[in-house]
Amino acid sequence: MRITEEALEVVKHYPLCDHCLGSLFARLGKGLGNEHRGEAIRRVIIMELDRMVREGEIKKEEAEKIMSNFDSDEVEELAKNMGYSVRRRSCYVCGGKWRELVEEWSKKVVDALKEYEFDTFLVGCSDCGGMVERQREIISAFRLPYAESVKNSLKREVGKRVKELLGKEPDFEDPHVVAIMNLREDKVDLQIKPVFIYGIYKKKARNVSQSEWKYPYSVERAVRKALSPFGGEVVLHASGREDVDVRALGTGRPFVAEVKRPKRRRLPVEGSEYEDELVWLRFERYVNRDWVQRVKGDESKKEKVYLALVYVPEGVDEGDLRALEEFFEDVTIKQRTPKRVLHRRADVVRERKVYWVKARKLNDKSFEALIKAQGGLYIKELVSGDEGRTEPSFSSFLGKEATCASLDVVWVSLPQAELRGGGEERG
Ligand SMILES: [Zn+2]
Repeated sequence: MRITEEALEVVKHYPLCDHCLGSLFARLGKGLGNEHRGEAIRRVIIMELDRMVREGEIKKEEAEKIMSNFDSDEVEELAKNMGYSVRRRSCYVCGGKWRELVEEWSKKVVDALKEYEFDTFLVGCSDCGGMVERQREIISAFRLPYAESVKNSLKREVGKRVKELLGKEPDFEDPHVVAIMNLREDKVDLQIKPVFIYGIYKKKARNVSQSEWKYPYSVERAVRKALSPFGGEVVLHASGREDVDVRALGTGRPFVAEVKRPKRRRLPVEGSEYEDELVWLRFERYVNRDWVQRVKGDESKKEKVYLALVYVPEGVDEGDLRALEEFFEDVTIKQRTPKRVLHRRADVVRERKVYWVKARKLNDKSFEALIKAQGGLYIKELVSGDEGRTEPSFSSFLGKEATCASLDVVWVSLPQAELRGGGEERG
């Protein structure tokens, strides 16, 4: 059917403004814009109605009734000139408030975003307050194949206006912020893209937990404090974790800090350090979300070096230590879940490698051991044997009771991507 014939049928039944009329044929004449499209169709129909009255195809009253369904200032003017009397009706879809709606919601979006720093944005709409349903009623009643959803139209027009107001760019792929209009509830919801920062931490003291949990002090708390200028919620994603009583020293442990709903996203944190009495942090650079998994990664694919202080009540000598070093070279340990973590871990047997051990005698009953092992091996139990649950162990090899008096992590392998230096992203 021709556009004008189709549009005439619609307008016989529904009052429409230029925008909402144009949206019913939106996929024809791409680039015109719905308002211009509707205006063009409306003008042709007005002329057509005039012709039909003059040629006696319809009565004047009938033409006036149809003209009254154009929610347009211009029609009121024209009708007067043409000698018709119209009683303008409001647009069935938008209530004749399209421009006001676009302006009002553009301002609401700008207002909702004012606290946030961003370069790119997207405007969404979760509820158009009944407009979509009313428009759909028309589209399905007249089977209009070229219509565009009024929701799409609103998102696009508000997006354009916000771009003008803020001078920021829309981004349909991966925007910094998404502002979602809800006309029914009269609110704008925001989705803010988190910021991810890759860094290294050292735990200089014992009794500091990694995540903010039941201990008064944690690495996460330090990270949170250091990143507080971002104005968001900070979550720590670290590459494994040490026990609360274990320090992380040496080259430190890699982590990714995620700042959720950040108000700032471009602070110059790269290369910055934070230090207090218990924790040292260094923020290396902004990264993308993939880095969370990259850093957390598969524990068993990582390598770590520990420094253990080992206590042997029966005493050790140099001979014991040299034999220990020789034995624990590239040896596979069968480790059943330690008793002390059984309450929160499944009882399974893991196989993990010890790559090497370097031992240094401190006195007759204790020595220091530098241990390089595969991630996921429980070192305290590697020393003690955990009543036979870890085999072989220092204790079983020496044939004497041995306990780990203190433990530090001194080196954690960096994620592969870090070694390649890829994945960098700002903001
Ligand atoms: Zn309308």
